[in-house]
Amino acid sequence: VTEKKTEAEEIERRHKHISPILSLSYKKPISMVRAAFQYMYDKHGNAILDAYNNIPHVGHSHPKVVDAGQRQMAKLNTNTRYLYDLLPTYSEKLLSKFPQSLNKVYFVNSGSAATDLALRLAHAHTKHKKLMVMEYGYHGNTQMGIDVSDYKFNNPKGIGKKEHILKTPIPDTYNGKYKGKDAGTLYAAEAIEQISNSTEPIGAFISEPIVGCGGQVPLADGYLKEIYPVIRKQGGVCISDEVQTGFGRLGDHFWGYEAQEVIPDIVILGKPMANGHPMGAVVTTSEIAASFNKGVEFFSSFGGNPVSCAIALSVLEVIEEEQLQENAKVVGDHYKSLLLKLKKEYKSIGDVRGSGLFLGIEIIDEKTQKTNRKLAHHIKNELRERNILISTDGPDDSVLKTKPPLCFTKENAETVANEIYNVLGALENHNRNSDPSF
Ligand code: PMP
Repeated sequence: VTEKKTEAEEIERRHKHISPILSLSYKKPISMVRAAFQYMYDKHGNAILDAYNNIPHVGHSHPKVVDAGQRQMAKLNTNTRYLYDLLPTYSEKLLSKFPQSLNKVYFVNSGSAATDLALRLAHAHTKHKKLMVMEYGYHGNTQMGIDVSDYKFNNPKGIGKKEHILKTPIPDTYNGKYKGKDAGTLYAAEAIEQISNSTEPIGAFISEPIVGCGGQVPLADGYLKEIYPVIRKQGGVCISDEVQTGFGRLGDHFWGYEAQEVIPDIVILGKPMANGHPMGAVVTTSEIAASFNKGVEFFSSFGGNPVSCAIALSVLEVIEEEQLQENAKVVGDHYKSLLLKLKKEYKSIGDVRGSGLFLGIEIIDEKTQKTNRKLAHHIKNELRERNILISTDGPDDSVLKTKPPLCFTKENAETVANEIYNVLGALENHNRNSDPSF
């Protein structure tokens, strides 16, 4: 009773000055005090398995990352208008992860700021105002970010789609109208028709390789390979938002666009880049950078500062030293196979998708085969009771999302799968003994 009261007080205190428009996770919010690698610890001392947070990419409070930040903070932190090695050192290391054509980088402090800048770069280069965006995409919280994010502008409380935005259907092979191996081509053909019907040329096409807020939906195979040349031919550039999918999370690839066998003109980076330290970046070609550089100076007070660069550099080093991309592949494959086994067992699991440690589990109603938000929320909250963090998302908020720190182990994956099994099993027993509630 005392604990409950204390948490209720914490919520009340938070809401005194922090608007509830910033929602809290779970029916019973968690009071967190510390975290290490793939575990978080609440104020009652519970160790909670983090199967959700992709920002602490190499693990919460990774000692090498913490050390890099602490040392640099004690030594020098300044704006980017002085010479210091860490800026070119980190830039070289980051750009070595990209194909040669992508050789210029601008640093900012969030994925949203990166999206905003990416759109400015595209405009400076093409001069076209029209933008093509994907259904359910999310790219950031600035006004320009919202304008290109169907997830936000198309929300019932959203501001609606603006004139200069062309929206194309998500090439989803589970919920969408095209399935099977030709789906990518069929979806692309529809989008290409939209492009050719556009009264103005499209300046930029922005998309994620796996649409996170859409419910972890991988783009149908081959989709971008057909769209990118068409966008370019009519004078536009192609932007890949790698905020969620980048830095080896997908296992098979370091960047998500590689799965689609394309090279974008502009790449947006954020979240995992500095393991939770606020950092984002835009990577682009020399040609696009040259167009942008003709305009007003670009300056970001914090973007690319020595502390951010030191932390981000340590993140890339840890990914390599600990072979975390490989771990994402091996553990991710195991995790996915366990979830697919669960799908065989329980008809309420409609689909298991994604790759590496970026997976989605679509929860459906057994009878209607429609999305089942209520059950997805039940599973999420039950897992919280069992000290496991995952989330829900998607158009109906009915997809369980799991995207843990890349140090996640096979045993961790087994724990999550077993507990989902237990939650669904308990429900079946309950439903057998009373009225079905889900
Ligand atoms: N792009 C994608 C794909 C994202 O998921 C997010 C954040 N959820 C952003 C951009 C915006 O990043 P930030 O919250 O750091 O501004």
